[in-house]
Amino acid sequence: MTPRWWALVSFGVLLVALVTFAALTVPWHRAPAPRADQVAVLDQFPHDQVARARQFRSELRPGNYAGMLLGLLAALVLGLTPIGARLVELAGRPFGGHWLARAVLGGLLVVLVGELLTLPLAAWRHSIVARYGISTQSWGGWGVDLLKSLGVSVVLGGLALAGFFAVTHFAPRWWWAFGAAGAAGLVVLLSFVLPVVVEPIFNRFTPMPDSPLRTELIALADRDGVPVKDVLVADASRRTRAVNAYVSGLGPTRRIVVYDTMLTEATPDEVVSVAAHELGHAKDGDVLTGTILGALGAALAVVAVYLLGSWAGLLRLAGVDSIGEPRAIGLLLALAAVAGLVAGPGQAFVSRRIEARADQHALRLTGDPQTFEAMQRRLGTVNLSDPDPPAWEFLMFASHPSTVQRMAAARAYARGER
Ligand SMILES: [Zn+2]
Repeated sequence: MTPRWWALVSFGVLLVALVTFAALTVPWHRAPAPRADQVAVLDQFPHDQVARARQFRSELRPGNYAGMLLGLLAALVLGLTPIGARLVELAGRPFGGHWLARAVLGGLLVVLVGELLTLPLAAWRHSIVARYGISTQSWGGWGVDLLKSLGVSVVLGGLALAGFFAVTHFAPRWWWAFGAAGAAGLVVLLSFVLPVVVEPIFNRFTPMPDSPLRTELIALADRDGVPVKDVLVADASRRTRAVNAYVSGLGPTRRIVVYDTMLTEATPDEVVSVAAHELGHAKDGDVLTGTILGALGAALAVVAVYLLGSWAGLLRLAGVDSIGEPRAIGLLLALAAVAGLVAGPGQAFVSRRIEARADQHALRLTGDPQTFEAMQRRLGTVNLSDPDPPAWEFLMFASHPSTVQRMAAARAYARGER
């Protein structure tokens, strides 16, 4: 049996594993609360507040879509014409065209071109977010953040490029197998490492100081049967007025993080309600579920790239001999951009269902739908969210149920529908 035959079998097995795992772990049946309740909720929002939120969102829209379109076009031009291959050759030239130099420097150069093209749109976005008072960051602070995330991308991207092309270089027939295992392993490793290595580059995390609220949160976690070593506060106020909380990490690196803005903007009861939602993620193992789905998806993507590598027309467009050579980096980027576009709505749908389950957990754990509703209203108000966004945009991009859906779910819960 040839490596290609094995790759086809592996692709099938991974696909079945991904679909089965998703079918078993994602709460597909959790439909949103009745639309009539959502409309009733929306009617209670002050009209000028909804109008301002919609104005804010519509001002962001042209830049967001232009950025997406430009990013996609750049990836397609770099990947489906020989331009990407030329850039990679150029980056490797000072090193005699060595494969490692081409892989790392060429890869970073190709990615940098895409980043630079969309930079003006990112700046436009910052100017709008600052004008509406959501961002508290100066241009200097914004630039520093940009450089930091570029640094993180260079280090992580450089390691991934070096690892991937080392495998294609040293195992030209079986690289897809090692590459798939490596990509899956990397996703798992990053889930452990990102919260303790990368997140602190952008924010300072301090244990929540002793207070009745902290005692209540730890007691809540105890009652829920979710061991939480600490509740951390992130100094998000250095860049934003927006409020948020999240859970990240796995096992020993798992933590619940609350933005410091949450503590100043929301009442203690509302913070408890948010923490109860985050405990839901911890209790249902949502970070683990996401990590396993991501690992299977990454492995599947590597095998898919290998199989696409026998499509001569595609290689001809990119001007490369093999999809496993560093000169094909532009082509890989184009494939990733298209795959991201196709997978995006599906990922958003899965995320919304998981978020709705965490909301139900918060309602059950606190038994306080009124505070939950007030908390959702607060999150939407402070963050200038459209409480009831346009349907198609919601389906394409929303990672969370809409504000009116979440508030309506609390009302349905209060009526005894659960
Ligand atoms: Zn959540």
